[in-house]
Amino acid sequence: MTAQYLWLAYQAAAATKGTLKNGDGWAASGLSIDTRSLEPGNLFVALTAERDGHDFVAQAFEKGAAAALVSREVKGAGPQLVVPDTLRAVEALAQAARDRSFAPLVGVTGSAGKTTTKEMLRYALAPLGKVHAAEKSFNNHIGVPLTLAELPPSAKAGVFEMGMNHAGEIRGLTTLVKPHLALITTIAEAHIEFLGSMEAIADAKAEIAEGVRPGGAMILPADSPYYERLAKRCREAGVGDLLSFGTTGKAAKLFRAEEGEEGLHIEAEILGKRISFLMAASGIHMASNALAALLAAARTGVDAQDAADALAAFRMGAGRGERYQLEIDGKTITVLDESYNANPASMRAALSVLKAMPGRKVAVLGEMKELGEGSAGFHADLAAPASDAADIVHTAGAMMEHLRNALPKEKRGVHEEKATDLVQPLLVNLNEGDTVLFKGSNASRVGALVGELLKAG
Ligand code: ATP
Ligand code: MG
Repeated sequence: MTAQYLWLAYQAAAATKGTLKNGDGWAASGLSIDTRSLEPGNLFVALTAERDGHDFVAQAFEKGAAAALVSREVKGAGPQLVVPDTLRAVEALAQAARDRSFAPLVGVTGSAGKTTTKEMLRYALAPLGKVHAAEKSFNNHIGVPLTLAELPPSAKAGVFEMGMNHAGEIRGLTTLVKPHLALITTIAEAHIEFLGSMEAIADAKAEIAEGVRPGGAMILPADSPYYERLAKRCREAGVGDLLSFGTTGKAAKLFRAEEGEEGLHIEAEILGKRISFLMAASGIHMASNALAALLAAARTGVDAQDAADALAAFRMGAGRGERYQLEIDGKTITVLDESYNANPASMRAALSVLKAMPGRKVAVLGEMKELGEGSAGFHADLAAPASDAADIVHTAGAMMEHLRNALPKEKRGVHEEKATDLVQPLLVNLNEGDTVLFKGSNASRVGALVGELLKAG
């Protein structure tokens, strides 16, 4: 076995200016902050949040940790690297990993589609060689440093999702990563509760430009009403190379995105090169994400058609627009599973996908969270696209009553406070050949509803 070592003890000690205790011959293959997902050979990082990670150091060694990064030595346990602050130490490892790497690094932000675009980039950049990206939606002040600290010296590209709830958060992440390229997927109403206005959301996303390296570029959504504002902020941050994508894009222009049986048939021009490809996804928003990913790949030197061909292997993640057949009581229905997340923009996008599907169309909608004072209005505003797309709309959660009340009577389905209480009504109400869209914020528990239906089916 040729182990790929990420951090040798002395390198980690040098990067963090920490002290090695109980042994200095270890080598770590990765980092872990949670003993439940720790893999043998990992450096266990004892973070202190609601629970104190130091209480889990012994368990980490039982599961095969190579060493532990701690802010106080845990007596009787294995090799440890002692530092004043473990999260700061992860940031220091992240910086060191970044500085020893020659790989182009891409930062991804936006109100929706970050994880999707990150996954698309994993494919689009693959012609360069090994692409490093987090397996999950690791996009905050812990997830980003952890992902960067795990950037292997052998990686040929790195992709980093950057998320935020508040102004200033993206700035911290981007100045850590120092991406060569940064990408904004879209600007929409997500997290407006904390930011106050759409302009403030756009400005908070544009912070990503502040970490872009000299000679780097920003990839921006041409079709967004906030394009000019984003472009101005990026120029103010010192990024001169602005590349736009979309139906009105200059650097990446979408000519055609046609829904077919196997997915989207896309024709586009990327940095002057005409390409066409098929991708297993639906909706214009997915074509838009793909265009952004292909533009980023082309800007790093990958041939645009090669990147597009690699994207053919991309599949949607769980709850993010997966499409599958489900058999319930002998009836086959088509499921559009968008249960992972929802905001007004992604609701509209998903409803337009539903509209284009065959059979009777059913929407099962849970609440959209974090929309602040305007939340009732955002929910009610979806009545028009929902009744346009669906034959019947089932709803869950208090906020969804605003949508329901704004629907024409004949489109109103069952309403429950808890999404999981829709299981029985749905079992009775679904017909052979139906297409059913499931969508809601993660906290709305529409995902749990889908899980129970899968069990029942
Ligand atoms: P989070 O903030 O939770 O990490 P995210 O930005 O990573 O979210 P994804 O997980 O990729 O977003 O997608 C979330 C939802 O947004 C999905 O339901 C998806 O269909 C929708 N979506 C994806 N891309 C776009 C887009 N460009 N515009 C609007 N909606 C989109
Ligand atoms: Mg995400």
